[in-house]
Amino acid sequence: MTSYKEFHRRSIDDRNGFWGEQANLIDWQTPPTTVCDFSNPPFAKWFAGGRTNLCHNAVDRHAAQRPDAPALIYISTETGVERTYSFAELKREVERAAAILRGLGVGRGDRVLIYMPMIAEAAFAMLACARIGAIHSVVFGGFAAGSLATRIDDARPKVMVTADAGMRGGKAVPYKHLVDEACRLAQNPPERVLIVDRGIDVGFPRVEGRDLDYATLRAHHLNAEVPCEWLESSEPSYILYTSGTTGKPKGVQRDTGGYAVALAASMKYIYCGNAGETMFSTSDIGWVVGHSYIIYGPLIAGMATIMFEGTPIKPDAGVWWSIVEKYKVSVMFSAPTAIRVLKKHPAELIHKHDLSSLRSLYLAGEPLDQPTHEWIMGELKRPVIDHYWQTETGWAMLSAMPGVEQTPIKFGSPSFPVYGYDLRIFREDGSEAAANEKGVVGVVPPLPPGCLSTVWGDDKRFVSTYFTLFKEPQVYSSFDWGIRDADGYYFILGRTDDVINVAGHRLGTREIEEAVQGHNAIAEVAVVGVNDALKGQLPIAFAVLKDPSRSDTEEKRAALEAEVMKTVDGLLGAIARPGRVHFVSGLPKTRSGKMLRRSIQALAEGRDPGDLTTIDDPTTLQQIREALGGN
Ligand code: ATP
Ligand code: MG
Repeated sequence: MTSYKEFHRRSIDDRNGFWGEQANLIDWQTPPTTVCDFSNPPFAKWFAGGRTNLCHNAVDRHAAQRPDAPALIYISTETGVERTYSFAELKREVERAAAILRGLGVGRGDRVLIYMPMIAEAAFAMLACARIGAIHSVVFGGFAAGSLATRIDDARPKVMVTADAGMRGGKAVPYKHLVDEACRLAQNPPERVLIVDRGIDVGFPRVEGRDLDYATLRAHHLNAEVPCEWLESSEPSYILYTSGTTGKPKGVQRDTGGYAVALAASMKYIYCGNAGETMFSTSDIGWVVGHSYIIYGPLIAGMATIMFEGTPIKPDAGVWWSIVEKYKVSVMFSAPTAIRVLKKHPAELIHKHDLSSLRSLYLAGEPLDQPTHEWIMGELKRPVIDHYWQTETGWAMLSAMPGVEQTPIKFGSPSFPVYGYDLRIFREDGSEAAANEKGVVGVVPPLPPGCLSTVWGDDKRFVSTYFTLFKEPQVYSSFDWGIRDADGYYFILGRTDDVINVAGHRLGTREIEEAVQGHNAIAEVAVVGVNDALKGQLPIAFAVLKDPSRSDTEEKRAALEAEVMKTVDGLLGAIARPGRVHFVSGLPKTRSGKMLRRSIQALAEGRDPGDLTTIDDPTTLQQIREALGGN
């Protein structure tokens, strides 16, 4: 086994040799002529001249060799539906969906907006688009009509695919109604809306001439044979918007060949998933994790993938582990926020299941705090791998790579730069930071295969958003702070706009949050910097208690606040001590579980909380207002 260091170095120093080899992990109709065309930096064209198709690599090539092997395992704890599609069955359903889309005039390069709950038809629709060379734009189901309308006008889809409704926690969530409203709000609504009628929202209104029923059209195409459209490697496969945590979401444009190769390689070196095994990503198809590791990644690797509609605590907090046991899941992927939810429930719900098939759990999306990491790793007794990436990159930037070398896990660290990424920590003047020196996480271009090729419809914005951190050198900015320790492990310290400047000391909100969590009464915390006449900025903490009764009288509250401040003093020094620690019962987050610090900060500074289209629970903001006003 080579060491990850050698592996990484070769991927940078011998870019063409390295990625040329990885290209063999997928099927090409025409092999590429150039591994990386970087003649127009910072734009990179990977595997130029090659022709391939994502659906062929994810479905057809496996259906040809192992038609009866499981491909898509659909489980809904909301409706009780549970069904396994083999690769042959999946191919058949995808061809039917492709025939429907073709029949509606959708062809290569046309956009299809998918606004759907976690149902198998959503996977069919995505793969059908890939099959015919249409560009899908999946929008997280449950976004409000306004957010949907903005995305409609940006992507200008010819067709939208939706369902009557979704289900969450036993309650129906309307989809079709929102689509109607979004189409009214949009400047350029789609010509056709294709609806999967689940029979949840009985009697939803239909627009004559625009709305079509999926089941009816499917019945016309039962024996459809729709060949894969061979796309040039750089042709777009999809558009996906970033989560909107720091402001207006950006439309990430993904290519075809580079993405397929990047995912295939990641399944081998990072996730170590093998054909015939099962992967379970608890995300949603509306997020990048859903695109890369519910749909394309595992299927490209010939694995079965689980598509789960439900919450992690219904019927009880052991539901995931019962799925792992039943389907012999070997690789699992989730988010820290979900693990923190499970942590509030008895660990017995984990232990009563046979988890012998499970090799490791991967977490990403937000900082993984040490107590949560230690807890889940202790309970599962197998590696829990924190890895760091972004919607933009499409796959991991920092991770352990057990398929290359088994390296020890350091709590709080997503380990090392992944092969292909010339990732470094930069000072503000563009020079490279020393070990243990805080700086911006940047990547020297070209970005590796799989990363965004541009911002949809806006090459200028691609360059001006991501590559103008310094005049020289031209570096991709992640907008995250990080540090590399003396052993080469990286730590993410928060977002570049989440830094607090206290009397000239720059502190990452993440560092202070970890220190606040050093007090064992705290379940979760958000720290923001507010303007302070004396110190420039002052950190203010909003904390959720494990046991709310610890602050139910003013006396107890004040005592606990003082204790938490003391904990921070002990861990980071008095300079980092929050000016106030407010106790609340929930924190504002995006629907993908990311803390909306910019909104909390705005409220704390008496400003408007800004764009809230992606917020999950607006009542949490009210609590922040009350906490601020009540003190
Ligand atoms: P927007 O870019 O629209 O503001 P967003 O950055 O939240 O939204 P995503 O692409 O979903 O959109 O999230 C990527 C970000 O999530 C990273 O830049 C980083 O801040 C955070 N993140 C992801 N994984 C980790 C991790 N393992 N540790 C710490 N932070 C992480
Ligand atoms: Mg971002």
